[in-house]
Amino acid sequence: MKDIIRLLPESIANQIAAGEVVPGPSYIVKELLENSIDAGATNIKLEITDGGKACIHVIDNGKGMTPADARMAFEKHATSKICSSEDLYRLSTMGFRGEALAAVAAVARVELNTRPHESELGTRILIAGSEVNAVEVITCPAGTSLQVKDIFFNTPARRRFLKASSTEYRSILREFERVALVNPTVAMSIYKDNTLDIDLPASSLKQRILQLGSSRLEKDLLPIQYESDRIRIAGYIGKPEGARPKGAQQFLFVNNRYMEHRLFRSAIMKVYEPIIEAKQQPNYYVYFTLPPENIDVNINPTKTEVRFMDEAIIFQILQSLVREALSAYAAVPVIDFSERVTEIPAYTGRATVKDEPSTMRKVTYGRRVFMGGNLPIALSQKLPQDDEASSYNMDWEKFAESFVVVDTQDKCIEEPTSLFSVKEMERNSTHNTATQYLVYKQKYIVTSLKGGLTLIDYYRAMVRILYDRYLHVVDEATLECRELLYPDSTMLSSRELDALKEVLPQLKTWGFEIEIDECKYMRITVAPLVVGDNAIELIQALLVDYVEESISVAEGVQKHLAFLIAEFNARTESKRITEICPTDFLSELFASSDATLTPNGKKIMITLAESELERMFHLS
Ligand code: ADP
Ligand code: MG
Repeated sequence: MKDIIRLLPESIANQIAAGEVVPGPSYIVKELLENSIDAGATNIKLEITDGGKACIHVIDNGKGMTPADARMAFEKHATSKICSSEDLYRLSTMGFRGEALAAVAAVARVELNTRPHESELGTRILIAGSEVNAVEVITCPAGTSLQVKDIFFNTPARRRFLKASSTEYRSILREFERVALVNPTVAMSIYKDNTLDIDLPASSLKQRILQLGSSRLEKDLLPIQYESDRIRIAGYIGKPEGARPKGAQQFLFVNNRYMEHRLFRSAIMKVYEPIIEAKQQPNYYVYFTLPPENIDVNINPTKTEVRFMDEAIIFQILQSLVREALSAYAAVPVIDFSERVTEIPAYTGRATVKDEPSTMRKVTYGRRVFMGGNLPIALSQKLPQDDEASSYNMDWEKFAESFVVVDTQDKCIEEPTSLFSVKEMERNSTHNTATQYLVYKQKYIVTSLKGGLTLIDYYRAMVRILYDRYLHVVDEATLECRELLYPDSTMLSSRELDALKEVLPQLKTWGFEIEIDECKYMRITVAPLVVGDNAIELIQALLVDYVEESISVAEGVQKHLAFLIAEFNARTESKRITEICPTDFLSELFASSDATLTPNGKKIMITLAESELERMFHLS
């Protein structure tokens, strides 16, 4: 094999923004995995020790490097992937800046062992903090093995900023997953502290998605595909009823790399919005393939943001594609699809939009599943309900409007403070109990407090009250539990499984008994009474939040669990708003740790000061 790595001409090197910085282990993993893919590897093994802080080891069976290339690979701006400044704007391989290995070798101890398949001997190079300590001829397997040890060993200040090993490992898994999802035919495995964590054999895209995102997705995914001369969009989208409040699998890729694209994400979401519950998120895996020159590569350090030429057109194509697949699946005229685009607009690329005839070639939709006229659950739940009529005969609409106006003028609202005492409340309220509290729209309690008019969001107040109650009983260890006659069980993704192992001790203090089998099935055999029938949903929500790093410290898990259970139960509780005793309810609210905000910082009440009311009447 001849040497292929060149130094970039200075003019191009200067076009590359100010030097690569290594933010942390997951970045290194991403760069090394992409290098292995670029080298044509069909098998990649990744070994992570201590969240990548102690060691990241990538072993591939790719084409390997000659001795000269092995040495050059660590030079700044050394790459086999760019020749001219024009190439710089091509995206066919995105890890092409010739900087990654140089940057990594500057902040860690690196050992490279590499051999091209056609050579008998390989090369070993040891570098620490950019200093080459050894270059040796060795015998080694064909391909490349790269070990990165003691990251930031020479910059202790940065080393201190590394996160907990479990957190770093989760970020590493995210990068591993993104690379795995575009290279299903490459066998990939990851070892965590010497134990095999994920093993992905070469497979089809669908199989890979299921292996990574859990087999739950099997029944959820609808294939999509669109192809013209200039662009191909393919992949899978989730059914509306598979949407989840948290932890949805949402991926966009372009030319075999993961990308972030706010506009395209919103294109997809806009189609789902009318047919799924608020705050639910659908699953999707969408792969774009188009000539590199039709993409603007925003060369930023993460390399994940990409601009497309003709974004508006692709936006439309994408929306139509998703819409068509969903309506074909639902087999009913789906709500709000009246103006659906039946013709997919032709996408003709950058230079030729005006003159070219339609280049649309082929559109295929998801499997048509006929539902016998039944709307999917998520759709039927959207149908208007009759029970909204208030039992009060006042014109509350008008009344509420005034609050909206007031709400926009900050100075008009006297922020309630947690200094209210129940006594003060009672002193200030009117004497006639019949008018003391009003329930508006089954959602709000209207009452008078501290010389003003107060609206309390009953659901949010309930979340606060229940949260405090639960934390209290957990502290006192007085939670009642029950054995589940029919244990709830579900299959977890690898990341969820890792998270579960970490939070098991905290779950035990709540009385949960959970078994995990070797097929990644989790079975809940005992659960605290307070979770009712929601045990499995609850644990799943917790794991998703944990994986997404919205909680990480031990104390956080307890509180977060209390919050999730409170949210679940407040939903049921808040339907009973008319049955409550308002005095007891308000007493408990004001005795809570913060009557004004929910545990996640949402406003529980709005107060309109009496002086403000007077001013408003005066003005009108
Ligand atoms: P880039 O990937 O942008 O070219 P890198 O610093 O990541 O820059 O890598 C420098 C060069 O080292 C690559 O262009 C490639 O020729 C070579 N290289 C890196 N990793 C591997 C690998 N796993 N197998 C073969 N060659 C590799
Ligand atoms: Mg690279």
